[in-house]
Amino acid sequence: MRIHTNVYLLEASKGSYVYLVMGDEPVLIDTGMPGRADRIVAELQELGLRPDDIAHILLTHHDVDHIGNAKFLQEQSKATLWAPEQDLPYIHGTEKRHGLKRVIATLVKAESPTVDAVYGPGQKIGNLEVIPTPGHTPGHVSVLYQDTLFAGDLVTSSKGKLKATPGFLNWNKGELKQSIRTVGKLSFDWVCPAHGTPVQRGNLWEVMV
Ligand SMILES: [Zn+2]
Repeated sequence: MRIHTNVYLLEASKGSYVYLVMGDEPVLIDTGMPGRADRIVAELQELGLRPDDIAHILLTHHDVDHIGNAKFLQEQSKATLWAPEQDLPYIHGTEKRHGLKRVIATLVKAESPTVDAVYGPGQKIGNLEVIPTPGHTPGHVSVLYQDTLFAGDLVTSSKGKLKATPGFLNWNKGELKQSIRTVGKLSFDWVCPAHGTPVQRGNLWEVMV
């Protein structure tokens, strides 16, 4: 589904959305829940893309519903797979997730991809800017592209409103709140969360802060 110029939501990833930025170098943001790879590839083909047209895959954080098809899509596309350095041990499976997420990870298995590159300070990838937004996980990032913020699990949307991701799902609630305040100073018009459909910002961010 086209959100606006160059920005698409992949409906095959309903539940934990994958977004496509269709610039000179097509970029995927997150990879959705495990088991959706074939449907994601089919949807890319409907949009005129072969998997190997994807140049970069950007993971916002380590949760299984975001890295679920990373290994398959990386192998199909030969794209550079990016992730936050602090989340690497969880992505590569060298460290166990905490609390409820450990339970979820035993129920919903994601094959571990091999991350090619980690985000540096002020990281830009083509026209996309990586914004550190820790709190949901230690290394969580959001991605800014022109007037669109890809928010990962920093916030969720429901019935046209934005909410901070609920506390029990977060690594550090205080840091999450701080990240929301920091991002609020940036200029953007569209918010694309993983959970919930995209919304136009209006005053929704300010209401949440
Ligand atoms: Zn998450």
